Amino acid sequence: MKSIQERVEAIAPEIRALGHEIHEDPELGMQEFHAVALLTEALEKHGFAIERNVCGLETAFIASYKGAKEGPVIGFLAEYDALNGLGHACGHNLIGSLAVCNAIALKDAIDEYGGEVRVIGAPAEETLGGKVNLAAAGRYDDLSVAMMAHPFGRHAASGSMNAIDSQRFEFFGKSAHAAGAPHEGINALNGVLKTFDLIDALRQHITPDARVSGVIKDGGKAANIVPDYAMAEFYIRANTSAYLIGFSEKVKNCARAASLATGARLEITNFEGWYDDLHTNVTLSDRAVQHTKEFGVTQDMERYDSTASSDIGNVSYRCPTIHQWFDVTGDPEIGIHTEGLRAGADSDYGYEQMFIVSKAFVKTAEDVLTDPEFLTAIRKEFEETTADVRNNK
Ligand SMILES: [Zn+2]
Ligand SMILES: [Zn+2]
Repeated sequence: MKSIQERVEAIAPEIRALGHEIHEDPELGMQEFHAVALLTEALEKHGFAIERNVCGLETAFIASYKGAKEGPVIGFLAEYDALNGLGHACGHNLIGSLAVCNAIALKDAIDEYGGEVRVIGAPAEETLGGKVNLAAAGRYDDLSVAMMAHPFGRHAASGSMNAIDSQRFEFFGKSAHAAGAPHEGINALNGVLKTFDLIDALRQHITPDARVSGVIKDGGKAANIVPDYAMAEFYIRANTSAYLIGFSEKVKNCARAASLATGARLEITNFEGWYDDLHTNVTLSDRAVQHTKEFGVTQDMERYDSTASSDIGNVSYRCPTIHQWFDVTGDPEIGIHTEGLRAGADSDYGYEQMFIVSKAFVKTAEDVLTDPEFLTAIRKEFEETTADVRNNK
């Protein structure tokens, strides 16, 4: 078998062309047809079987390459959506290209040791979060590991991202003339207002990382009519899903109490889904960082804990997961969603760093394929540290 360096370098020109073409044609979430065509064509050419339209999402795909022997299943996660008006300023052109590079470079090891490698492409990370759908359908459940890396202003280990829930509270009352016969009405707006009051009382008793913010989307039509309908929407966030599960329930109880007190009937809807926190598998992450340094990165690579939320969180409670960060700009001051990062995501420096990470990820995947004790340790950590969320959500 050729060395990892040789295998990655043999496909590097092809992968770089892929990254460049996707960068040149930024597509918004759920419309990434060109990017998916490019990524799947490259994988098909290298012998991968492609499943399209996964979970009914036109731009979701799963590419698979299996060995003759059973073995671990390595998942490399691809993203490829761009930002409205900013192009690939989050560098997802490189996330997709890196996943394809890793998978193709791992093929020789799959032939030698057995097992399977998959590229799992999910649309719309920036908006609707395609991974949420795939996670709910169990499409990450049989992965031994899921790995991805995200462009950034420096190299960093996989850390955390916040969990977020979304709740819509609709109150249904009974209209009446506000002066003529108010006693005949049930005031839906009061349901909304009391919900806000109760949530404000709850704020004193939540952890400092937790956040709840809401707006009234409908508060009635005219001051002389008792509102028969009122609606508010809230985002509820916390560092961990374990905390958010209980916290979200308390927020719902505020609305339930308001409904009881006012007599206005309540309907609760989760209007934008639920993102789990990113729960990094440290055993897997430490190994990937070690290999990233061995292949030439000299930065300290401390873990990056972000206050943002991402659909990768939902993957991380389905299988052992890492979301590493890699330098594409050489400037830690340059954040994601900036012109600087957009330029870095199609630069010589960015590709050079991406290929270092690719070698490190292939090496880490080979460790999973060949070292049962390593895989057992990864799995043990996953089982122990995610059970509370997996059993209660
Ligand atoms: Zn982004
Ligand atoms: Zn991103």
